[in-house]
Amino acid sequence: MTTTSTNMNESLDHEWGQCPAGAVQGLVQKLRVRRRRRQAQKVVAVAGMLAIICVTAFLALPKRPYDPELAGLHCSEVLALADDLIAGRLDDLTRGQIVAHCRQCRKCHNKIVALRAAHEQSATPRSEPQADDRTARQQPAADLRWQLALYR
Ligand SMILES: [Zn+2]
Repeated sequence: MTTTSTNMNESLDHEWGQCPAGAVQGLVQKLRVRRRRRQAQKVVAVAGMLAIICVTAFLALPKRPYDPELAGLHCSEVLALADDLIAGRLDDLTRGQIVAHCRQCRKCHNKIVALRAAHEQSATPRSEPQADDRTARQQPAADLRWQLALYR
């Protein structure tokens, strides 16, 4: 038994030869590349999961409409007060706040101007066609006057 194992060891010793130059270094390099690739895959997987969690959380959050506060009033408050503003039912302080808001918020400014124009059109009784043409021509001037009054 010992002679056969000794023979096997001798035959193995003969099979093992010297490595060509750089072979071990190449193997080490390949292993390093594989390890880096696996680490990069783990990082990508974790980042992807985090991105999915963030997107899901963002989508799950209740949506609030864009309603910035400018000059102490939110757009929703300005628009809620627009009818009273046009009707002249607001005190000077509130009116001043709305004017200050509209100076910074084009959206509210445009909505109030449009509401005012619609209010004027509905308040103006329809008469003969010639008068309608005159009213249509005077409409931009009326808008301008009202805007100037808003910014007084
Ligand atoms: Zn606004």
